[in-house]
Amino acid sequence: LNKIDTIQRASQAGPTALAPVEDYLAELHARVAAISGGKPADYIPELGKVDPELFGIAIATVDGQIYAVGDAAVPFTIQSVSKPFMYRYALQNYGRLAVLEQVGVEPTGEAFNSIVLDEVANRPFNPMVNAGAIAVAEMMLGETQDERLANMLELFSDLAGRKLDIDQSVFNSELATGHRNRAIAYMMLNTSMISRDPNEVLDLYFRQCSVKVTCRDLAIMAATLANDGKNPLTGKPVFGAQYVRDMLTVMNSCGMYDYAGEWAYEVGMPAKSGVSGSIIAVIAGQIGICVYSPPIDKAR
Ligand code: GLN
Repeated sequence: LNKIDTIQRASQAGPTALAPVEDYLAELHARVAAISGGKPADYIPELGKVDPELFGIAIATVDGQIYAVGDAAVPFTIQSVSKPFMYRYALQNYGRLAVLEQVGVEPTGEAFNSIVLDEVANRPFNPMVNAGAIAVAEMMLGETQDERLANMLELFSDLAGRKLDIDQSVFNSELATGHRNRAIAYMMLNTSMISRDPNEVLDLYFRQCSVKVTCRDLAIMAATLANDGKNPLTGKPVFGAQYVRDMLTVMNSCGMYDYAGEWAYEVGMPAKSGVSGSIIAVIAGQIGICVYSPPIDKAR
């Protein structure tokens, strides 16, 4: 954190002081690239085909400067990193109380795909695990499924500041193999945490996870969160500032699943991980960060 502070101050000092940021990122990239271990997720078969050597880091500041090193322009699917953005969207469109009826804010201490609801309210624990994210996916506005899909893609495109699309083969791969998520969705139909056809809700959830982004995109999207919901590149207010606290709190307590406590203790930045191997982190009012490296450990 102290280092990032120094970088931030350096970048505010004007163009001549910019090199230290890039130098620092290059040095960091080289140092971290030497670490091996982990393995790309392959429970969605299509994800297992990725080059495990890919490694990128990108930082976007709230005043629209971007620093990137390594494979920051290689596309991959956003996966669970989509969840805080969808949650933020639901809060904005339904308000805190209505969203709280469908999804809580309590860490699970369990894996992302755990089949568990809280015993008192029958709710998914939080919007960062699959159960909660599936409940949140149902809240995408639109009269028809096509309209909801279009609204979802528009949301992510506005956040990234460019038109984003879905990776059809990852979507098909997850649709064909996502039985555990199907179990979770049916369990929530049973407890009225979702009310539409589970397969329709999952169709949107799987597509949301299959949105194709780059490390650079995710840094900008994270910087949009750091910037009270306003995209620092395009200046477009994607979200209002009202629910920033709700979203960053949940990222902080639940964004890294069963590693969330240790992450908060060691790293301290509200963050979200995804099975493609990316993590975003937000320093409110300052920067958004994305790191991308496909091999992951069990705390994905
Ligand atoms: N689409 C993935 C799933 O639901 C997302 C999981 C993740 O990134 N942790 O299984």
